[in-house]
Amino acid sequence: MKFVYSFKEGNKDMKDLLGGKGANLAEMVNIGLPVPSGFTVTTEGCNKYYADNEVISDDVINQIFEKLNELEQLSGKRMGDSDNPLLLSVRSGSRASMPGMMDTILNLGLSDKTAEEFANRHGDKRFIYDSYRRFIQMFSDVVKGYPKQHFEKIISELKKEKGITDDLDLTADDMYDLTRKFKDVYFSLDGEEFPQDPKVQLIESITAVFRSWNNERAIIYRRMNDIPNSWGTAVNIQEMVYGNSGNNSGTGVAFTRNPATGENKLYGEYLINAQGEDVVAGIRTPQSIDTLANIMPEVYEEFSKYSRKLENHYKDMQDMEFTIENGKLFMLQTRNGKRTAHAALKIAVDLIDEGLITEEEALLKVEPNQLDQLLHPNFDLEALKNATAIARGLAASPGAATGQIYFTAEDVTEASKKGIVAILVREDTSPEDIQGMNDAIGILTSRGGMTSHAAVVARGMGRCCVSGCDSLKIDLNNKTLTAKNGKVFNEGDYLSLDGSTGNVYGEKIKTKEPEISGDFEKFMAIADKFRTLGVRANADTVREAKQALAYGVEGIGLCRTEHMFFEENRVFSVRKMIITDDEEVRNEAINEILPMQRQDFEGLFEVMDRKSVTIRYLDPPLHEFLPHTGKEINDLAKALNMTDSEVKSRIEGLKEVNPMMGHRGCRIAITYPEIAVMQTRAIIEAAINVSKKGIKPVPEIMIPLISDLSELKYIKKIVVDTAKEVMKETGVNVDYHIGTMVETPRAALLADEVAKEADFFSFGTNDLTQMTYGFSRDDASKFLTDYYDKSIFERDPFAKLDQEGVGHLVEMAVKKGKSTNPNIHLGICGEHGGEPSSVEFFHKVGLDYVSCSPFRVPIARLAAAQAKIKEQL
Ligand code: PEP
Ligand code: MG
Repeated sequence: MKFVYSFKEGNKDMKDLLGGKGANLAEMVNIGLPVPSGFTVTTEGCNKYYADNEVISDDVINQIFEKLNELEQLSGKRMGDSDNPLLLSVRSGSRASMPGMMDTILNLGLSDKTAEEFANRHGDKRFIYDSYRRFIQMFSDVVKGYPKQHFEKIISELKKEKGITDDLDLTADDMYDLTRKFKDVYFSLDGEEFPQDPKVQLIESITAVFRSWNNERAIIYRRMNDIPNSWGTAVNIQEMVYGNSGNNSGTGVAFTRNPATGENKLYGEYLINAQGEDVVAGIRTPQSIDTLANIMPEVYEEFSKYSRKLENHYKDMQDMEFTIENGKLFMLQTRNGKRTAHAALKIAVDLIDEGLITEEEALLKVEPNQLDQLLHPNFDLEALKNATAIARGLAASPGAATGQIYFTAEDVTEASKKGIVAILVREDTSPEDIQGMNDAIGILTSRGGMTSHAAVVARGMGRCCVSGCDSLKIDLNNKTLTAKNGKVFNEGDYLSLDGSTGNVYGEKIKTKEPEISGDFEKFMAIADKFRTLGVRANADTVREAKQALAYGVEGIGLCRTEHMFFEENRVFSVRKMIITDDEEVRNEAINEILPMQRQDFEGLFEVMDRKSVTIRYLDPPLHEFLPHTGKEINDLAKALNMTDSEVKSRIEGLKEVNPMMGHRGCRIAITYPEIAVMQTRAIIEAAINVSKKGIKPVPEIMIPLISDLSELKYIKKIVVDTAKEVMKETGVNVDYHIGTMVETPRAALLADEVAKEADFFSFGTNDLTQMTYGFSRDDASKFLTDYYDKSIFERDPFAKLDQEGVGHLVEMAVKKGKSTNPNIHLGICGEHGGEPSSVEFFHKVGLDYVSCSPFRVPIARLAAAQAKIKEQL
């Protein structure tokens, strides 16, 4: 089996095997761009390494050395050769980009002998020993796991001793001295000398990159971005080019369009006399790419040309890395650039208008979950007028954030566990900070550019971020931040960040919901043209229903009526209804609730005029309504003419050991049919009332949690009889449908029977997941973390549909249901209705609609369009 490919042997369509970076390096070679030569060890090589108990097999090693040989011949350089040594970079690259999550080693191939002889011959001793000491430091960190601080301390001490602050002021002798000291540190930590054989260095480095696939931050990143553990990473081995070989050299990162706004203009930054990692690490603040046109006009022209070529070739915005070595330009990477949701929509719409891509291609380019970003809050403009910025950094990732500041990622995580809305403040961030960045509402850094780690990661996560805010002085020891005006902020103080302007405010500022228009409307209209799956919302209130309409729903797919019963002025009547054993008192209580329910439904029907409103009958575990405090019990006892202890013993009797499997769903209406009568009355009366105003109500009555046909039949009869009675009383007829939720495995197994009595099914995938796995919805999160840590599960089945198991039941129930009732209407209203891969599944198995929370509606609309387009590919 072939585990190693030279760049010439690959192409952009081989991402699964060569990783994104490897496939794109190969593609750039194919289209004639200047790329330093190299080869890629495949993701299958990585998987084999894990299958072989974390050992690279001899076969793979031999293949690596074969390609190394070819590379030596191609470059005319040899590893370990003191006259013309081949020096290499070793970089990870998985199928999906995971910026900064895995490891990189540069300058590999240097040893005492090559460094010395090379320096003697070529004279640039400072450069060579700078490269060597960097290599020792990276190798120690990545391969051996020795903390960087050991080495950084030595550099700081030397700089202090010499009274300098900038690394660039270190001389050739200093670099030599540092190299010696670094090797000593290595020896003291390792017990062995720093390896001098370049082939040993190479294999150890490749091993370390494979190993980094499973480092903690990579695992967290994968879990957050839904990247399977089974993909593995490829490793790219490439001839080094040096951006740090003098003032005619440099290195940078650029995007073919602005990744924050989508503007069609080359966008990026670079550093003169620096090595690649310096730009991304955010240690020095780089210059805008435009200024390169003045410093090196020809290189700038050439780079702009490649940038256009790459964008036209990939038909998408590209994120490129480049290095200039003594005036010669090399391309080190290209990939589809990460972008804000705002930019993603503008770029997609612009690329259609520019004739570069079709509407279908444009729809597939936007990640549905990203649309969430557009729905993030902005500052209230009035409130903002009265605020004064204390600093301004780079507008790295849009949105507005107000929160309390913390100075480490761990502190943010701790604070957020306590419910505090936290802002992470750092000089710069590194991949270890990923959890805290995710837990923060916003991120502020004093160093680093638009492509720094903080900026890239925040954009991906949709976190508001201001980076490179260098007028703020951060003291990590004392946990303070000092503004230019001298004002000091301590841990826990409030700041506000505007990720769209880069402004930082030293106070709380009111935020408001986002407004959506322009490219969003255009893009979503294109999505709607393609999708065949309907999208409804789970909404219980008029406010939610309005919100859902603004986001483009075709109806309400789930109105959970118990949410209406919990309102303060109603719960007392509900309690009376449950606790009393006197039927008259129960009816009295129910009659108190009826007008309120009717009013609720009138509101929903009015807002949703002509659109379906699916009303689910009462479905909470009964104990949720029970009174807790002495006063509550006493008030209830008085109202019911009972003693406190009678009420208490009634409460005791109603308590359940396992409420999630207990007295809920249709079981409540079976015990208390009068509740179903009241709910039906409220719905039909409301429908009649609004239709008198010219509104067309479309009620769909939904019975929850049935597991047997006779349950449905029993309640259906109550509904039909009551509806008839109300229509007779009023002399007005209204249309309505009766259906059921399919959320117990038994209902799914017997769906052909159930369908005979149902106009529609709505899959309750929350309960169906709970009961298929036998995992309690309330408690599973407590132990599922162990499942993730032990790689038993990769994801939460309550968030992303388990297509094999739960999905199997859904698919089966669809087929069975249609077999006895070909006109049955089919939907889903569990949480999975707003999760893109689940939406695709529901489309495939033939549901008519998904229903999700209002904020996820645009996501579901796009995911539904993508599902349809993918089906036709
Ligand atoms: C479900 O079970 O999927 C559902 C939508 O109902 P609930 O979450 O209210 O139990
Ligand atoms: Mg349910």
